[in-house]
Amino acid sequence: MIEYSKAVEIILNSTKTLGLEKVFLDRALGRVLAEDIHADRDNPPADNSGMDGFAVRYEDIKGASEENPAILEIIAESKAGGELVKVEPKTAAYIYTGGLIPEGADTVVQKELTKVEDNKVFIFQELPKGSNIRPQGGDYRKGDLLIKKGKKLRPAEIGILSSVNKPTVYVYQKPRVAILTTGDEILDVGEPVEKLSQIRTSNTYSLYSQVLEAGGEPVVIGFAKDNPEDIQKKLEYAKSCDILLTTGGVSVGEYDLVKDFVVKVLGVEILFWKVKQKPGKPVAFGVWGREKEKLFFGIPGNPVAAMVVFENMVKPAIRKMSGEEKVFNPVINAKLKGGYKRKKGERVEFIRVSLSLTDDGFVAQPFGKQGSNILTGMVYAHGFGIVDVGVTEIKDGETIKVSVFDKSFMDGRYGD
Ligand code: AMP
Ligand code: MG
Repeated sequence: MIEYSKAVEIILNSTKTLGLEKVFLDRALGRVLAEDIHADRDNPPADNSGMDGFAVRYEDIKGASEENPAILEIIAESKAGGELVKVEPKTAAYIYTGGLIPEGADTVVQKELTKVEDNKVFIFQELPKGSNIRPQGGDYRKGDLLIKKGKKLRPAEIGILSSVNKPTVYVYQKPRVAILTTGDEILDVGEPVEKLSQIRTSNTYSLYSQVLEAGGEPVVIGFAKDNPEDIQKKLEYAKSCDILLTTGGVSVGEYDLVKDFVVKVLGVEILFWKVKQKPGKPVAFGVWGREKEKLFFGIPGNPVAAMVVFENMVKPAIRKMSGEEKVFNPVINAKLKGGYKRKKGERVEFIRVSLSLTDDGFVAQPFGKQGSNILTGMVYAHGFGIVDVGVTEIKDGETIKVSVFDKSFMDGRYGD
């Protein structure tokens, strides 16, 4: 049995980032950028106007006031996407937001400060030279580094990619994650219940969805009974994947065959089995494949344990494989409502909490039923409160670290 922190260290040291692929922009959301993005031009490409109004020479509006307006003849127009025009002394050009600053002009007077009569503009106020001009390269210069490799692409980055004329972009490949569900008692959705002892799967599809959320490509490779032939047969389907997740069958029971068979069928080298954590103690981890570049996680069958192990151990590996720099869920400090007590402090414990954001900061509310088989506790949870090794009590109102797997409480959804 090893320490939790050691287990995570072994996992990340065994995880290699995958290769690259090219995707079109409309498929780039949430992918991890695998190339640095530089500017193809200056932005703005030339000085342009930040307002609708008149492009003038500062010289000509110097000293203008309500009583003594500057009166300039309007001789041109500059609109967004238009041609470069010119102003002469004592003249002005109509200009619109995004219009090029005319040759000879150095200042833009917003429409609100002017009046037009007989093709002449009256300007009632002096403005500083250069007013309302967005300078060439004010946002960025040609060649500037705009987005660094490793960034997870959001709408803003995708906007920038298109503005620098990239219809396709290199991103890291997503790991293919095989999910094998084991257990004589487990039924897939849709299968008829024939015996009282049968259990409908939850792990298959909670893991599937967690893989999607983490940025992986889930593949359900099947449901295996607790017998050598079936496990052996179904494991064959894992071969085309980067990560194999099995659920169930990694405890010490006679029917817990998974560990032995991943070694036999896939050549997995087991790097650890059993971690000092609650829930999720009997988790197994190993590497396989030609260069030991593939990962195996033997996840315990208890539904909550499965979800906890995924968030804390599998998700960081998926994120590292897909090129992300930040691999862990964010950890925040919250005030623990009601407190938490336990008898022994030998293992790190992850307790399900719902979070709310109050005037007093984050508040974490644990659920009454914390058993690793109580899946309904997960429905209202936003994070795992971390009770460290050696800690047996956290009092009401004391601070607890919470590893947040769901940020939806930020939208005001507080466990409803
Ligand atoms: P195991 O890890 O195989 O010893 O299973 C531990 C517990 O989790 C047992 O009560 C199983 O019935 C239950 N279990 C195992 N696999 C699943 C699953 N896919 N969905 C829901 N419960 C499961
Ligand atoms: Mg089992």
